[in-house]
Amino acid sequence: MLIDSHAHLDSERYAEDRAAMLARAWEAGVGAVLSIGIGEQAAGMGRALEICRQFNGQSGVPKLYASAGVYPHNTREINEEILGKLDSLLAEPEVIACGEIGLDYYHEGAPHAVQRVGLIRQLEVAAARNRPILIHCRGKDDSTDAWDQLFEILEGHWRQTGLGGVMHCFGGGWEQARRSLELGFLVSFAGNLTYPKAQPLRDVAARLPLDGVLVETDAPWLAPAPDRGKRNEPAWVVQTALVLGELLGKDKEEIASATTKNFFRLFDIRADVGN
Ligand SMILES: [Zn+2]
Repeated sequence: MLIDSHAHLDSERYAEDRAAMLARAWEAGVGAVLSIGIGEQAAGMGRALEICRQFNGQSGVPKLYASAGVYPHNTREINEEILGKLDSLLAEPEVIACGEIGLDYYHEGAPHAVQRVGLIRQLEVAAARNRPILIHCRGKDDSTDAWDQLFEILEGHWRQTGLGGVMHCFGGGWEQARRSLELGFLVSFAGNLTYPKAQPLRDVAARLPLDGVLVETDAPWLAPAPDRGKRNEPAWVVQTALVLGELLGKDKEEIASATTKNFFRLFDIRADVGN
């Protein structure tokens, strides 16, 4: 069984065929999907949980988990009400992670200082609810500012929780991967690992220990080769897993069982998760 550790199942792009899309994932061997709850805007972050509840208990579809969090570029929307909503979502048994949260200095959006404050406030909520975090980190071109500031924040506000998390859609270099592992994080690879120009990323992946990696789709974005450019979906996590397995010298079964084990180790250790 494979786990898609990051998919935006609440995307409007699945409005017409969400059930069929999940059935295809199950057919492809995807046993579980972490449904990311950031919404279009912060107020919609509970939609992922609704989708979880709609499908869990049905046969022929993956088991669904949810997250909740305020995306870096939506951090201007953070106020007491939003933080209260985040806190109550994280209290739900299906909501096993806070995210995706972090820093995005690549796209124009929320000012960097607003993103940093928004991240720190969410770390406090996640820590109080004992939930690991899902980090989105993207810098501008070759600058490591976003990563440097991310690690500074995690060292000051997260390491001591011992909860760890996931570096989602990892796009950093070896130094960032090494520091992530050292902070107790798993490094998760999306479909871009399969792209022709991603050799530097594949070189980093090849150096990682088997117990430090996850795979994801980030669907509906980042469809892996050969479907690049199409709407992505959890079934296609298989392609990324095959490429990662090849890099680590593991066959399909070995990479599937390792990434599944890693996922459950990170999240299942919470006694109150209830799954
Ligand atoms: Zn995402």
